[in-house]
Amino acid sequence: MSGGAAGRIAALNGELTLSFLTRIAARYHLGIRDVLAAVTDVGGLQNLTGMLYPDSEIHLNAQARERVAALCHVPQHVLEQALPAWTREEPCGKYGVGPVGRLMRGEEVVAAWGPACPACTTARTGREAPARRYLAPEQRVCARHRYWLLYLPHTGGLTVPLGRCPEVIEAQRQHARLLHRSPIGAPAFEVARAVTNSWWEQPWPRQEGAWPARLDATRPDGADPGWWKVAARDLISYPEAVTVARVLANPRWQQHTLAQTRVHLPYRLGEIPALLAELADRLGRPWLAHRLADVTHGPLFTWAHSCVLIHADPTPAAQQKLWKVHSSHRPRPLSDLLPPPELRTDSGQPEPRPVKRLRGHSLQAERAFQRSLAHARAYHQQFGHLAVPKEDSFGDYPLGAWLSNLRTRHTRVPAHQAAALHALYPWWNAPWSTLWQRTWHQARDHMEANGPLEPASGFPTTGYSLGEWLYLQCTRYPTLHPEQQRLLTHIGIDAPAAAAARPRRRSSAERFQVGLAHARTFADVHGNLAVVAHAAMHDSYPLGQWLGNQRRGRRSDRRPLPAERAQALADIDPWWNPPWGLSWQRHYYRARDAAVGSLLQAESGFSDLDDSGAADWLWHQSATYDELSEEQRQLLTDIGITAEVARSAREHARTAPPRPAAAPAPQTDKPSPAGKGADPAAPTHRHRTRRAAEPKRPREPRSRLGHRPDLRPGFETALAHARAYAAEHGHLAAPRDTRHDDYPLGMWLLSQRNRAKQRARDGLPPSPHLTELAAIDPWWNPPWNSEWQRNYYRARDHIEAGEPFDPAARVPAPSTVLGSWITRACLQYDQLHPDQQHLLNAIGITAQTADQWPPSPRPRPHAEALTHARTWAGEHGHLCPPIKTVQDGFPLGEWLNRQRELAKKRSSPSPTQQDLAVIDPWWNPPWAILWQRTYHHAQADPRHPAARHWVQSQRRGWLLLHPGQQHLLTTAGLVNV
Ligand SMILES: [Zn+2]
Repeated sequence: MSGGAAGRIAALNGELTLSFLTRIAARYHLGIRDVLAAVTDVGGLQNLTGMLYPDSEIHLNAQARERVAALCHVPQHVLEQALPAWTREEPCGKYGVGPVGRLMRGEEVVAAWGPACPACTTARTGREAPARRYLAPEQRVCARHRYWLLYLPHTGGLTVPLGRCPEVIEAQRQHARLLHRSPIGAPAFEVARAVTNSWWEQPWPRQEGAWPARLDATRPDGADPGWWKVAARDLISYPEAVTVARVLANPRWQQHTLAQTRVHLPYRLGEIPALLAELADRLGRPWLAHRLADVTHGPLFTWAHSCVLIHADPTPAAQQKLWKVHSSHRPRPLSDLLPPPELRTDSGQPEPRPVKRLRGHSLQAERAFQRSLAHARAYHQQFGHLAVPKEDSFGDYPLGAWLSNLRTRHTRVPAHQAAALHALYPWWNAPWSTLWQRTWHQARDHMEANGPLEPASGFPTTGYSLGEWLYLQCTRYPTLHPEQQRLLTHIGIDAPAAAAARPRRRSSAERFQVGLAHARTFADVHGNLAVVAHAAMHDSYPLGQWLGNQRRGRRSDRRPLPAERAQALADIDPWWNPPWGLSWQRHYYRARDAAVGSLLQAESGFSDLDDSGAADWLWHQSATYDELSEEQRQLLTDIGITAEVARSAREHARTAPPRPAAAPAPQTDKPSPAGKGADPAAPTHRHRTRRAAEPKRPREPRSRLGHRPDLRPGFETALAHARAYAAEHGHLAAPRDTRHDDYPLGMWLLSQRNRAKQRARDGLPPSPHLTELAAIDPWWNPPWNSEWQRNYYRARDHIEAGEPFDPAARVPAPSTVLGSWITRACLQYDQLHPDQQHLLNAIGITAQTADQWPPSPRPRPHAEALTHARTWAGEHGHLCPPIKTVQDGFPLGEWLNRQRELAKKRSSPSPTQQDLAVIDPWWNPPWAILWQRTYHHAQADPRHPAARHWVQSQRRGWLLLHPGQQHLLTTAGLVNV
């Protein structure tokens, strides 16, 4: 070929190399095939790979490039600047040497391109020749000549006149401005394009007018509208994509999104109304905001999700996540949607084709998803939800693990899978815990069965555990996720109801235990229960009133006190409820205390006792000794008033001047703190004068060790709240946000715990005043976390309330709040603190119970596959089955291929791959798997002609074989060296 005639041929800026070669061919009045033959000719053979299509591109090696430069008379460095693919690759040819060309096509391997504007090309080259250029998204419009430069697979592209669509040209202007002003303009446009594409792929609402009009205005004469709707996707949605990109790229809208979600990960786009309103307004589609509000998936949702996710991390790497478009959200390549011309029928209409799989998703993954979804559907049918605990299996299938994996990557799940899950169970990907969600279902089921929950009355219809959970939700209501608040509204708990909620009241058994604990503490200090005044409060607990109720219950037949409760009280004080008056009993104790260390002298009317009231009472008892009951006499004998002494006292009374009236009985029924009002040592008038004359004994100061005096009142207040809380709940394991009568008790307890732990760390002895907390609840500051302790109390309350409890039989079910704690307690029993084990023993969970729990079923996703692999290898002696091999319904060949691909990407083998290597060390050889299969065929049947032929060829190319291949051939006896 002599080139001089054509002169210098310039390349267009950004032109495809093949487009340039085509124009060179036209200038020489040749066909493109002739030019390609000339450029890649090696001794009369064409060193060219790939097929030539109208949408192909070519990569040339250095020698071929030299020939092109010579043909067009343009230096290489100029061509390199103009042609983006000029030095992209040094392709290897069929003949090893000489110039090489490699043809390729498709959106995966050739960057985005389109036709060059014909008017611009003519102006630039002086000739009317079609050309193709690589185009960035903002270069699709020639504003000057009003063209859209449309990429169409299988063609050289299409220039679409934009005369009737000025908004597209205006959008291009805005697009350029965005790129000029914002460093994230380009990635923001990619996100926006994914967003508009997701709208495009859904059925368009009735109100959508702009897109159909634009389709109509741009459709070439005679083109099929259905075909055009697919082909023109990027053109039609371009103005909207630019508008969305401008909103998303604006940092103000990122901040708005963060503020509106209150830093909750969004569940649905409706939680960001301002952003939706802005988009609807700027796009001129008022209905769009409403339509987007229910969206829980897709590129816009993912963007908002990332916005919240990365807000605390200002590093560039984190910020980049905001602009990542996952493959499942990218617009599908046009070449997947538009069939090549060879598949079209004569009429030019595309033939219906089998649905092509989505890129990036293997058929096997899709089949696995459908299988798992069937399990999920069955589970949902049985339980009404999909809030499956992570460790739970459904039948043999590890459904909990599968759903948990899906939840962690829910924004990346393909749209059709997300839609299928959403249709089954809308909260499959809720951003709160599955435990919360399960408990909510429990509450809803409870409400449906038992009527309204009545928060203002303390959830009277619920069990204690559920009631406690509901109350906790009410106290946390303002900080809950908006969708959680919405869910609570479904069960009758809206903001006003939550504010008015009362704590769940305890059962009578629970209340009894609380009263009993107070009675025990009181008796430990005061020695008996008789001296408790009716209105007495013990640690803010109405102990007097409670004891009165128990006594009434003991006496009445209507609601008799159960025998074991009466016994529990009798164990504290056998005379807690004497058959005679309480007043007698109180006087008796007063006298007993007064008599300690004194000699009772009946002759002097016991007047040598310090307590004249006691003395008078003793004298009176002596006088009426015969009227007393047997037990009373026995009690008196115990303090030295025998029948003998009583008679002596009576006789002394006859001879002695009459005694002044007895001191009034100790007044115990006035409201005052217990122990003080019942203080029998109050001086009576007989001794008042004498006592007044004596110097006052210094009062024993109360122990305030460890307290600054000015802090003591605050501590007392807190302590009073702690006592009241413990009286109500039976423990002090209050969650950190607990407020008791508006006092931040939870925070106070937390700080006390921290202080105590700090002192322990510093090697200091425990602060003495904290013993007062230990007196309320010995486990107020356990060495394990308080959450565990709270759960423990929950279990204890559950048992005391008489609810079904049998850990060995998994009652309550592991799917409940309590059940999941019990599960963990049993599974981790051996690792628990000895005191924890001790506490568990008290509620019937022992090492034996724990032993009955098998280790939790760990999901083994590949266990099934490995079993099939073993079976197949057992039958065939190796693990290189043909790719189509199906073993017992399992696609073993495909699965192994997938494992091989994965193994290539890993630096070290996964456990599954290690297991495979144990089955067959050559399951994934470093040479082609095809070789390995042929080898196994030859080994199985060495006399087969094909095998013999193959072995011969191996022998010929022996030196080119991998040492492993040589090893296999020799050990199998196929080749003798
Ligand atoms: Zn132009």
